[in-house]
Amino acid sequence: MRTHRIAAIGGDGIGIEVVAAGLRVLDELQRADGGFRLDVTSFDWGSDYYRRHGVMMPADGLATLRDFAAIYFGAVGSLDVPDHISLWGLRIAICQGFDQYANVRPARVLPGLASPLRDCPPGALDWVIVRENSEGEYSGIGGRAHRGLPEETAVESAVFTRTGVDRIMRFAFDLARSRPRKHLTVVTKSNAQRHGMVMWDEIAREVGRDYPDVTVVKELVDAMTVRMVLRPEAIDVVVATNLHADILSDLAAALAGSIGIAPTANLDPQRRYPSMFEPIHGSAFDIAGKGLANPIGAFWTASMMLEHLGETSAAKRLMAAIEEVTARGPRTRDLGGDARTDDVTAAVCDALAGAAVR
Ligand code: ATP
Repeated sequence: MRTHRIAAIGGDGIGIEVVAAGLRVLDELQRADGGFRLDVTSFDWGSDYYRRHGVMMPADGLATLRDFAAIYFGAVGSLDVPDHISLWGLRIAICQGFDQYANVRPARVLPGLASPLRDCPPGALDWVIVRENSEGEYSGIGGRAHRGLPEETAVESAVFTRTGVDRIMRFAFDLARSRPRKHLTVVTKSNAQRHGMVMWDEIAREVGRDYPDVTVVKELVDAMTVRMVLRPEAIDVVVATNLHADILSDLAAALAGSIGIAPTANLDPQRRYPSMFEPIHGSAFDIAGKGLANPIGAFWTASMMLEHLGETSAAKRLMAAIEEVTARGPRTRDLGGDARTDDVTAAVCDALAGAAVR
């Protein structure tokens, strides 16, 4: 039997709830599939851990995670721990420590769900946003001086390296090439940001020469928001910087129906380190602890993780079960229903069990 070692980190808020739900669904999937086993170890790292230990994860946290095949992650963020501690202490520490430079965010209107866009025929919104995940605006370079004084100064530098841009560009071109439309939109802001963004444009042109079969469109990030809303069918794969893609992918998730359904993969495409899979939503403290979180994003995330592990048929089977449930319900409140996390989880488990019998 093929066995994959998985590290599960719920983190904070609804992250803990949706990862627990995802693990239930993965248990059912292993029973239904019969061809593989997930050996899951759960870690209680996050803001509660921080309150007890003064750190978001132990000092040897990365060394502990190193030998896992993949990391199944929930969300971090809480009301009383500053974001820069919770985010940088856990999620970004893992992404950067394991050089997970490609952040992949599919957005698609699942069966039975509606886009808030008035004119969005079925199939029109089927995108994958590739976010540069290791440098750019989130490289943490900068500082503050003269704190509290009128002349206080803060500098936040965006860092773009040829290596970093080249590798994310190649990843995005490869992904575009693997999809039927072979279409890539390169997003920058090179009209206003004259250095890093102009280098992005240049490298996109250079790398594009190796992919003559991929159609490339160049778009400024502000114009891209308009295109996403008005011409969703004109988009296939998108590549953008850490900040730009962060914003665009939240918009994409909302346009696809709800932030509660969207998944993301933080990949080390060279597979030197474990990759990390998480729903794109945060810890959502307004609904945490109430059993109301939509677990679909965490389930889709699990399907992406299985795909990465080479369990392609199980990944497809899970996706089919998810789509069966989005099509006929139950649905959580963010999708206009009144179901609870547990109801949706049970329905996906039933769909998987039913699929095993058929
Ligand atoms: P972050 O700042 O880390 O992005 P957040 O906790 O501020 O996270 P998001 O997760 O981005 O918020 O979500 C915004 C709102 O969308 C939440 O407050 C919640 O109401 C809703 N939401 C997010 N995820 C879900 C979900 N899985 N199910 C239902 N509602 C959700």
